[in-house]
Amino acid sequence: MLVDSHCHLDLAVLADQFPAVLEQMRLNDVAGAICIGVTLEDFPKIQALTARERCIVATVGVHPENTGVQEPTVADLVTLAQSPEVVGIGETGLDYYWHKDRPEWQRDRFRTHIRAAREAGKPLVIHNREATEDILRLMAEEKAGDVGGVLHCFTESWEVAEAVLDLGFHISLSGIVTFKNATQVKEVAQRVPLDRLLVETDAPYLAPVPYRGKLNQPGYVKHVAEEIARLRGISFDEVARASTENCFRLFPYARTRMCS
Ligand SMILES: [Zn+2]
Ligand SMILES: [Zn+2]
Repeated sequence: MLVDSHCHLDLAVLADQFPAVLEQMRLNDVAGAICIGVTLEDFPKIQALTARERCIVATVGVHPENTGVQEPTVADLVTLAQSPEVVGIGETGLDYYWHKDRPEWQRDRFRTHIRAAREAGKPLVIHNREATEDILRLMAEEKAGDVGGVLHCFTESWEVAEAVLDLGFHISLSGIVTFKNATQVKEVAQRVPLDRLLVETDAPYLAPVPYRGKLNQPGYVKHVAEEIARLRGISFDEVARASTENCFRLFPYARTRMCS
């Protein structure tokens, strides 16, 4: 059994064909998925989804790429995180790829999320693109380690992975690990301690091989786990068991909501 620890099921490309998405999960023994919030405006759609579908839980947050959206306060996030099916805060973090001017508002927004997570007592889901130094600095300054969480869709070097692990965080690998040229990610897949590993799709984006370039969906997380098992020379079951157990340890309520 697997859990997709990070996907965007509220987006129309997946929401419009939800029965087929669920069927693909069932066929691949994916017991559930965490639907990740990216704006407050769209959060009601995610709440409706978690109310309707037993095997879906959620996180609440405003993605660092998003401009021109409602800016969350600590109180907004803490309030929305009160319901048990909201298992974490995010996705948050920094994205200097889309915002090359490295704006201060991204760092302020990231601090807000870390403070909310600490207040709500729920773990963080962190996005990092070309911002490693500031991510690690703000995580340390705001004591993100007090609540822990996960660096999602991890693509940095093993040295960065070690720094993240030192802060008590988990590392989640996406379909990128299946890409031929992803040498750095494959190295992390081999070295990350098995008790700190999560797997995800980031669907509808980043479909793993053999679906690369196509629409991604939670059921395909199986291919992520298979590649990690191959790289480590261990069984698929071992990766599935460890990553699922880690996900439940980090997001305890998710365990009660999965379909088996
Ligand atoms: Zn992300
Ligand atoms: Zn995401």
